[in-house]
Amino acid sequence: MNPDSVDVCFLCKKRVYVMERVSAEGLFFHRSCFQCDYCSSTLRLAAYAYDQHSGHYSNEAASHRKMLDRMESEDI
Ligand SMILES: [Zn+2]
Ligand SMILES: [Zn+2]
Repeated sequence: MNPDSVDVCFLCKKRVYVMERVSAEGLFFHRSCFQCDYCSSTLRLAAYAYDQHSGHYSNEAASHRKMLDRMESEDI
């Protein structure tokens, strides 16, 4: 094991070890950090969405899509 190969969580910037790590899009996260920004449920790698404009992570639920749409339209 190379101690220099410890990765950093993209969201909290703290060290993340293999046991508690999830990776997506070439980034690493703590399991506990990789949560929906709207309902705080843990995201699954097969079903999450990242909105590049707002920087929010969310799960792929249709209800969340509506929330996002509403938030974006309120922004104007
Ligand atoms: Zn983290
Ligand atoms: Zn959610």
